Amino acid sequence: MKNMGLQHLKLVSPGEWFNEQCRRMAGKAIELVQSAQIYSSLDEALTGENVVIGTTSARKRKAKQRIHTPREIAELLRKYGKSHRVALVFGPERSGLTDLQLARCQHLVSIPSNLEHPVLNLSQAVLVLAYEILSSGPTKSRGSLPLASDEEREQMFSDMQRVLLEIGFLNPRNPSHIMRSIRRFLGRADLTPRDVQILRGIMTQMEWYASERAAGRPA
Ligand code: SAH
Repeated sequence: MKNMGLQHLKLVSPGEWFNEQCRRMAGKAIELVQSAQIYSSLDEALTGENVVIGTTSARKRKAKQRIHTPREIAELLRKYGKSHRVALVFGPERSGLTDLQLARCQHLVSIPSNLEHPVLNLSQAVLVLAYEILSSGPTKSRGSLPLASDEEREQMFSDMQRVLLEIGFLNPRNPSHIMRSIRRFLGRADLTPRDVQILRGIMTQMEWYASERAAGRPA
């Protein structure tokens, strides 16, 4: 991160981490490591982020979601990086990110690699992505549309899941199946705070309508 000019490190449930080995490995990046912000959940860590990008060695992903190249992600950063907070999410060395965590990301990126050995070591994966970002040049200064924040989107998805269950659209035994598809296409939509507000408004109205119908009143 330090070599490539990235600064803000967030760690989720790192356990006992700032120990002797960590200090030794950090070398000249010690200040960056020391200033890492610690969170107990991914949700918490993503608070305030606008664009969330998950990393995966595409190996076990089904072709359902478009997987970007590091260069495409660097372009995305050039577009949004100046006016928005963009988070790159990496998984733990042993297990990687879970399907649920990847579904929470709006975009996915995979570093092209040997199909028989697609999984890079975590630090190397960070380096490759950070290199692409650095070498794509400075971020554009004129921002695009304002993007909703991660928590605005998450509140909307939680409303959506509740209402779509209530009106019988989602299968109560497996609501996340369709919710993941909805997340996928809305993830591509660059939702603004106003878009999110409209979608939440629709959900509120649907909820009201359903309760009026259930009460036998003509809505
Ligand atoms: N056993 C895990 C390995 C995770 S490697 C698995 O199969 O998923 C640790 C992390 O390094 C991953 O979560 C991802 O953030 C990153 N990583 C490893 N290989 C990558 C690749 N080819 N492209 C993008 N990120 C990769």
